[in-house]
Amino acid sequence: MKKYPHIFEPLDLGFTKLSNRILMGSMHTGLEEDKPDLSRLAAYFEARAKGGVGMIVTGGISPNRRGWLTPFSAKMTTKREAHKHQIITEAVHKYDTKICMQILHAGRYAYHPFSVAPSKIKAPINPFKPFALSNSGIRRTINDFRKSSKLAKLAGYDGVEIMGSEGYLINQFLVERTNKRTDEWGGSFEKRARLPIEIIKSIREEVGDDFIIIFRLSMLDLVEGGSSWDEIVRLAKMIEAAGATIINTGIGWHEARVPTIATSVPRGGFAWVTKKMMGEVNIPLITTNRINTPEMAEQILKDGSADMISMARPFLADPEFVNKAKAGRSDEINTCIGCNQACLDHVFSKKIASCLVNPMACHETEISLEPVKSEKKIAVVGAGPAGLAFSAAAAERGHKVVLFEASSNIGGQFNLAKRIPGKEEFYETLRYFAKKLEINNVELRLNQRADSKVLEEGGFDSIVVATGIRPRTPGIPGIDHAKVISYIDVLEGRVEVGDKVAIIGAGGIGFDVSEFLLHEKREEPNPETIEHFMDFWGVDMQFEEKGGLAVAAEVKPLREIYLLQRKSEKVGARLGKSTGWIHRSKLKKNKVKMMQGIQYEKIDDQGLHIKIKEKSVVLDVDNIVICAGQISNRDLYDSLGGNHDVHVIGGAFQASELDAKRAIDQGVRLAQEI
Ligand code: FAD
Ligand code: NAP
Ligand code: SF4
Repeated sequence: MKKYPHIFEPLDLGFTKLSNRILMGSMHTGLEEDKPDLSRLAAYFEARAKGGVGMIVTGGISPNRRGWLTPFSAKMTTKREAHKHQIITEAVHKYDTKICMQILHAGRYAYHPFSVAPSKIKAPINPFKPFALSNSGIRRTINDFRKSSKLAKLAGYDGVEIMGSEGYLINQFLVERTNKRTDEWGGSFEKRARLPIEIIKSIREEVGDDFIIIFRLSMLDLVEGGSSWDEIVRLAKMIEAAGATIINTGIGWHEARVPTIATSVPRGGFAWVTKKMMGEVNIPLITTNRINTPEMAEQILKDGSADMISMARPFLADPEFVNKAKAGRSDEINTCIGCNQACLDHVFSKKIASCLVNPMACHETEISLEPVKSEKKIAVVGAGPAGLAFSAAAAERGHKVVLFEASSNIGGQFNLAKRIPGKEEFYETLRYFAKKLEINNVELRLNQRADSKVLEEGGFDSIVVATGIRPRTPGIPGIDHAKVISYIDVLEGRVEVGDKVAIIGAGGIGFDVSEFLLHEKREEPNPETIEHFMDFWGVDMQFEEKGGLAVAAEVKPLREIYLLQRKSEKVGARLGKSTGWIHRSKLKKNKVKMMQGIQYEKIDDQGLHIKIKEKSVVLDVDNIVICAGQISNRDLYDSLGGNHDVHVIGGAFQASELDAKRAIDQGVRLAQEI
């Protein structure tokens, strides 16, 4: 019997059949605008099609200039553009995979001065105020969706997805929050719903019956004045009647203040929303958000919560996700840890998307692990993310790799990261690397601290030093006081921490330690329940109010925490663009006092003496946790003579602004060259 029978049951759409129930959901990667052609985007999609996914939806392509998310972003308005896309559909169609083009009109989320919306109301996350569309402007927009679909068909796509969620133009028409019109496109629900329905009807008329039309329906807006559940069900029925083939689930507008895809969202945390819709329509429903393993996908399908599963980022992390699951090798899947660091955060800063755990994502034409011509014997010192990534990739190419690790586990600092409540996914990366070392026959020597003697005597052709970092100890008078503890001691549970705590350093680790100290000690891994998550963020699972919002639960902080930094900028300003706000609001709800512009004076029995705005203050805390950054641990590297081919990567190479993304990327790129 197959391991995931529900995933691998084909989905019959009448005129065509999908080979399995997994959709690679839409993601903008930046390759959509690549010059001179779309060959990199084609290579990226081809790798996922080869990996067995049933259907792909492209990143959002605009039907006209007004609908551009940013100036000069991809659009589908001419035959020339359609021909450029053929390289994508041809690449995907070498495999049993369908591909649909997403048509996205950004409406008031467009980041340019000529954006349009139902009404002239600025979005809270965008400095540009939109123009209100005229009646003829709406008619032209419908026609542009129709034309884009015709061109998508010409380009060889199997269908289109109409982006009707996440707070973009269509969603803006649907709700009173953004639609204040009094003509035939606003007012009553039927009038607000007219735009999406006319778009679907018009596209169906244009493309005929044998073309997939997916409608991405916002089933939970998570904003005040959003749609009611009753309206969403009515709309779903109207979408079906208008000619859509499939309804995909959209969760939360971009301006919503509830996390929807971050790693702290419990796995499958929003499948309950699609489940509520099951049985209301006769066309298939797709569910989405924070589904990242075949086990989770199978369970959701088995529970009858959806007909199909959409996963987007998991396909950046592992293009072969589906084939590995099919072959019963799910323990070899490189799991998306929901960090957003190389995908969303890259896109927000106008960089090509990639993946923290898989730097090859979106760089398929640039990084590849070809078999080596002559095998080398390579010593790798340190099994943190840098050493692991290098070892796994170099061994995959055919080198003989010996990996030395001083401690009893692989993972380096990821063993601390995985203990942070909400970061349980980091366990998966360690599971993945352990498996990769095993299948690529890396010789792992745990509990063995490598020194220059061991390395000299080992007869290695090359040595890769990946010895990581050491925590920085700031030179504050009294730093040796018994109240002072390191983040490592705290996270490893080696010290008892009091009720009142000051944290010196408000970088990623200062935030993580604050989060850790706000939770009771717990068995690991122990992710938050969906119910608790929804309570904390104020989501109404009964859906009695419009938008699905409820009053958030009152939080009783476990400790009194001061999170301090010397810089005068807002605390947390340098955290990831897509996740920093989540960390800040969690600490705020727990009444953590985040203070910037601090000078540290001394530490003594009274506590931590600081100066803020030229005023001296004593924080009478039980403990002071040092999270003041790190320095490179490169003594070994410095001690190795020039007789070897020696390389240094990760934190040992450079500690400042180090993160796992850089460590893994450096490891893989070195393995490609060595
Ligand atoms: P390390 O992880 O430090 O690994 C070095 C390894 O070398 C260790 O296992 C050590 O035991 C071993 N070693 C040292 N000397 C020797 C020797 N002589 N012989 C044998 N072995 C030796 N990064 C992110 O990108 N995203 C996050 O969300 C994130 N969260 C974090 C949360 C916490 C609490 C912490 C502590 C870190 C977090 N990081 C995060 C940072 C990330 O873990 C580091 O950037 C990354 O681990 C650096 O990798 P590395 O391989 O260079 O070094
Ligand atoms: P960090 O981000 O560099 O932060 C170090 C903090 O220590 C800063 O707030 C800094 O602020 C303070 N500091 C530096 N020198 C000091 C000194 N001499 N005395 C007192 N304070 C000092 O480093 P980190 O928090 O240790 O994190 C390490 C890396 O892990 C980071 O690069 C980060 O990207 C990564 N990480 C990422 C995440 C994530 O969620 N993405 C989570 C955890 C860690 P002031 O100088 O203003 O005081
Ligand atoms: Fe997933 Fe992080 Fe990779 Fe994005 S960068 S795909 S969130 S693991």
